Amino acid sequence: MSEYPRALIDLTALKHNLKQVRQLAPHSQVMSVIKADGYGHGLTAVATSLADSEGFAVARLSEAVSLRQTGFKQPITVLEGFHDLQALKLMAQYQLIPVIHQQQQIEWLISSPLSGELPFCWVMLETGMHRLGMSAALIQQHIAALSQTTPLGLMSHFANSDLADDVRNIRQIECMKTLADALQLPICLSNSAAVISLPQAHFNWVRPGLMLYGVSPFADKTGFDLGLKPAMQLQSQLIAINPLQAGDEVGYGGRWTAPQAGKMGVVSIGYGDGFSRHLSNCGAVWLRGQKLPVIGRVSMDTICIDLRGCIDASVGDLVLLWGHPELPIEWQAKQAGTIPYELMTGLTPRVNREYHHGKS
Ligand SMILES: *Cc1c(COP(=O)(O)O)cnc(C)c1O
Repeated sequence: MSEYPRALIDLTALKHNLKQVRQLAPHSQVMSVIKADGYGHGLTAVATSLADSEGFAVARLSEAVSLRQTGFKQPITVLEGFHDLQALKLMAQYQLIPVIHQQQQIEWLISSPLSGELPFCWVMLETGMHRLGMSAALIQQHIAALSQTTPLGLMSHFANSDLADDVRNIRQIECMKTLADALQLPICLSNSAAVISLPQAHFNWVRPGLMLYGVSPFADKTGFDLGLKPAMQLQSQLIAINPLQAGDEVGYGGRWTAPQAGKMGVVSIGYGDGFSRHLSNCGAVWLRGQKLPVIGRVSMDTICIDLRGCIDASVGDLVLLWGHPELPIEWQAKQAGTIPYELMTGLTPRVNREYHHGKS
């Protein structure tokens, strides 16, 4: 028997989405971004399904080590690089690829014999994101010494690639091209939004995350609209149905009042599972072919839904929270005032991940 709530994960959808990346960027190698437990889908299952990516990227050393210990042999890039010599040692030991984004890392690399054992390094150029990255001048100053240590590539990250036709994207691309041409380095720049909407930014390597999970990086589109297949469907069960009289208040703080007599349902999912409390009074669920509103506050373990529109609901019914064409995660995220990335990575360990190959 299945335990609810569960995240039902379609592994063939991940493969389908990787194929979409390849169709969009046919001349680029693909570095699949599987940080944060594969965007909440489960690191090992995601890496296995996306095993024919030319490489993986994760944020932290611990994520990369865990992939190596599970047996993955692909090139693995660690987006935050290393923060001390001990970490550099582990990167060499596990043959990981650091992103070098600050001068201190350059100094460690140049002075440590361990750097000769690294397979590759990405040098992070600041092109407009102003998060992690170094100026072109700083990179040029150290490039000769750096290239003595390991083979190098040039990386940067878009700040606005989800906004089509934004001139800031063009500036970031130009900045990248100028330095890469001067230094004759391969480029890795495009996240999902740029894979889809900025073909001139594909270069040698693309670096998509979100779209691999079938979700849209654009506020006005869903993964379904883009020909992607959402890999995750979040499901739970209706565990109670209760009558309401006009004027009854539902949940903590009585934030929803029944305008007339009717029925409400209780669904076994709450913020303790990662169903955001920001969906109080504004989220929805999909039950028996209908979209029904979340009423009152989201609790730790449960939500309440308005069953006035659904007379045949019964205890035990399957309830979908996202991953359905009529209830995509993009919609739910917008209701919560956030982005799908946060909802997916916010699922807690209490939610069972169950895997299947293309049936649901
Ligand atoms: C997370 C991340 C990505 C992937 O971005 P998506 O929008 O999920 O495609 C790429 N590059 C860096 C540096 C990241 O942190």
